Formats: sequence, structure tokens, C-alpha cells
Amino acid sequence: MIGSSVVLRTRSWIVLCLGGFLGCSALGAPAARAADCPGHPDALGTSRTLVVDPREHPRIGTMQYRETLPLKDHEVVLTFDDGPLPKYSNQVLKMLDDECIKATFFIIGSQAKANPEGVRKLVAAGHTVGTHSMNHPLTFDRMPVEKFEPEINGGIEWTSAAMTDPSKLAPFFRIPGLMRAEGVENYLISRGIQVWSADFPADDWRHVSSDRVYQLAIQRLEAKGKGILLLHDIQARTVAALPKIIRDLKARGYRIVHVVPATAERPATPTTPVEWLLHPPTETVPIARWPRVPNFVFTQTRTLPAPSLADLNAQTEHQPLLPRRTRGQMDIASTLPVPGSALFAIPEGSVEVLLSTTLSRRAATRLAMAAETPHAARGKTAKGKAAKPQARHAHAAPAAPKHAAQVKSGTPRPTRVASLKKRA
Ligand SMILES: [Zn+2]
Repeated sequence: MIGSSVVLRTRSWIVLCLGGFLGCSALGAPAARAADCPGHPDALGTSRTLVVDPREHPRIGTMQYRETLPLKDHEVVLTFDDGPLPKYSNQVLKMLDDECIKATFFIIGSQAKANPEGVRKLVAAGHTVGTHSMNHPLTFDRMPVEKFEPEINGGIEWTSAAMTDPSKLAPFFRIPGLMRAEGVENYLISRGIQVWSADFPADDWRHVSSDRVYQLAIQRLEAKGKGILLLHDIQARTVAALPKIIRDLKARGYRIVHVVPATAERPATPTTPVEWLLHPPTETVPIARWPRVPNFVFTQTRTLPAPSLADLNAQTEHQPLLPRRTRGQMDIASTLPVPGSALFAIPEGSVEVLLSTTLSRRAATRLAMAAETPHAARGKTAKGKAAKPQARHAHAAPAAPKHAAQVKSGTPRPTRVASLKKRA
């Protein structure tokens, strides 16, 4: 496992050197590798140094921004905020030295003022040093420029003052609490300072165990596959978690990348814009989501002239696109006679037919019989026997003469009654 990861590191170093003939010579001291870590043959090491130009990519870290560092899969950048605080920062520094890991530290001005030696130690060990404001206020998102400007400048002033060579200060800034604001970012960018967010934290500023810090660091890294890890070198739990994090990074085949700012003598590592995305789309992977329509489409649409009908070759004089009613047609429509109320009157006797749609067939039959012969209905209600012959009559109108004979004989045919009942 260790052997294979050494091969990987060696290969990435060769690729870096092949990237350009300026690459190896312009980077200054080559990045440390496990094999180059004296006294620590199993060290994780630093696989490569990435030189970035803050002006080309002013905001990085997918926790808040679209872009992040152009890392390859399984590459990690370690960052530590809020120091230096000797009690813990020195322990972190020792662990990183033992593993030949180069990290980036975001210094608080007041800490540098109180412990300038801590800043010098970081520079001497070859780490990158950026700043993190003067007093770490968590109100950068609502500060006016007259408040955040001295906070930013105070941090830079005291951190560079602590250095033997102030040019060693990197133009990297992390906003305290990641309380970003456009005004703050624009101010930093206008001064050529790169705004660093992160790709994932490990929640080591919260009241959690060191085990939890270690678990979160690894889980979140595994979820993204690479990125910038945000830690704090002023916390006991971070000091306790760091050996486990480093051990796991090694076991899982992760590689440490050291980030430094570009200078006149040290040009930025050549990259393509797409590499600054955490997971750039590739042609071999189908796009799951439809891409957003870029803003420039709308910008251009607003200024495009509307096409005229002539541009569409429409012969408007002879072939109107849609037929229109003439004035005469509209006049005719408005003078149509109103239908009389008699048109909607229902003839007497039809009510039963209409009702029969909702009543039972037997009830409808009775109503029809009553309508046809009002006297017979009255007779039935008066318990007269004439109702039955009338019912048969209703169903057998053409046989009226025969029916009369049956009435006379007084022997009604039961089959017809049954037939009537069956139909009910
Ligand atoms: Zn902080």
C-alpha cells in the first residue's frame, strides 16, 4: 500500500516537471516526498506544489464559491486558521514537520502581535502564510468599508511585521467565520488578494470530540474526493485528531498539495479554467442536469431588434395571418333577435316524460297513464277497478277493440299483467 502510493507520488512529480521546462526550476525548492522526509520513511509527504495567481482566480472554495483549487482526484490542501497559539500551534507544526506536509496558515493579527515567533516558525518550516483579519470579528458580512478595511490591513500589517522577510506573506485571506460579503471580497480582489473559503470543514471549533473531528474530516473528504480542508491550530481537539487524519489520508491514498502564490520569478502552474471546478463535466459522463442558461443570453436578448413582418416574408396585404371579423359582421352579431320565452316552454304532458328519466319505470308509467286519462287516474285513486284495463290499454293501444271485449267479458288476461309487472 505504501509502496504503491510512493509510486503515485513519484509519477505526479514527474508529470509536474514535464508540464513545462520552467516548472521544476521556477518552483524553487521541490515539493517534499515521503522518500525525501529524513528520518520518516513512512511520511505522507507533500506530493506537489501548486502555484496560483490570485488575480486569475480571486475566490476559491466550494463551500461558498463556484471555483476551488485545481486539484486532481485524491489531492488535499490542509489549511489552519486562527493561530499562532504556541500551546497548540507548535504541536501541529511538529506533526506536519514529521510528515513533511506543507500547509497554509491563516493568521490573526492579534495572535501575530502576541506571538511573532510562531509566525516565523511557520515561514521557516516552508508553510504558506496568509491572513485572517486583525481581531477575528464575526461581522464581516455587515461591516461598512471603514470597519472591515482596518481589520484586513491590521492583520496583514502585524503578520508581515512578525516575519523576517515580509515578502513571504501570501496574498491569501480567509474571512473570519466565512462571513462573506461582496464589498469585502471586491476590496480584497482589488488589492490582488485571493479570497479563500474551503471545500469542507471538520467542525473542530465546535464542542465535539477529537474523534468526531477526525471522522468529519475523512467523511467529507471522501464525499468530495479532493479539496481544501479547513482546520484550526488553536484547538486541543484538532491537535488530537490530526495524527488520525494524517494516518487515514495515507491509508486511503490521498496526496498533500502545497499552495503558493505566483510571483514574477514563480509563474502560476498552467491550468485550464475547467480544472478550477471541483467536479468538471467530462464528455464521457452523461450530464444529469440541464446546464443553466448563461446570463449573456438574456443580456443580448434585451438589445436585439424585434423582427418585422417583412423579415418573415409575410404578405400581409393579401394573406392576413389570422382572419378578422369585419365591421359589418360585428354589427350583424349585435342585432340578432332575442329568442322569445315561448321557445323554452315545455308542452303540457311532457313533464312526466322528463320526470321518467329520474323516477322508476313503474312511477313513470303511472304518471303517463294519469296524464293520458285523468278520469281513470281519479277512478283508481277512488279505488275503482277501471285502472287495470287502462294500464293494459296503455301498453296495447292497437288492440283497443279486443280490450273492450275483455272488459266486457270480465276476464282480463293475466299474461299481460305479468308482462306489465315484469317491465316495472
Ligand atoms: Zn477563524
